[in-house]
Amino acid sequence: MSLHGDYDAQNIFAQIIRGEAPCYKLYEDEDVLAFLDVFPQSYGHTLVIPKRSAARNILDIDVDSLAKVMAVVQRLTRVLVEELEPAGVQVAQFNGAPAGQTVFHIHMHIVPRFAGEQLGIHASVKAEPAELAQLQARLLRRMGH
Ligand code: 5GP
Repeated sequence: MSLHGDYDAQNIFAQIIRGEAPCYKLYEDEDVLAFLDVFPQSYGHTLVIPKRSAARNILDIDVDSLAKVMAVVQRLTRVLVEELEPAGVQVAQFNGAPAGQTVFHIHMHIVPRFAGEQLGIHASVKAEPAELAQLQARLLRRMGH
């Protein structure tokens, strides 16, 4: 059952946290990591994850870790809105495969929405590395890096 079960320490986000897999990092502190989704559903699609909590979903995570993740979600949502000027922005989180979850380390999606643009298909089309790197640089600049 994908909603219940053991945490798999080999999931791709656990590998990213350990530095075993790369990411287009936007933010990191002791507890939270944020990076660009490599199969973005819109320009600027960002993921925010807890680093210390081996939680598959919202049922598992301790409230302190969740609060820290959400503080970064708000901060990065502001950055994305300021820099990319979308018409709207979705903040989403899926629990269990039937709800759309494909990676079983809890994460929040921040998905800017642009007028007249349909949402891309979930976790399906890989963005060009050059485009992701350029977007990462743009957002980091906005954050004062
Ligand atoms: P979920 O379907 O579990 O809510 O979301 C998982 C997200 O992770 C999807 O939006 C998918 O595009 C993204 N994703 C899957 N593999 C990778 C990866 O290797 N790197 C990054 N940055 N995102 C990934």
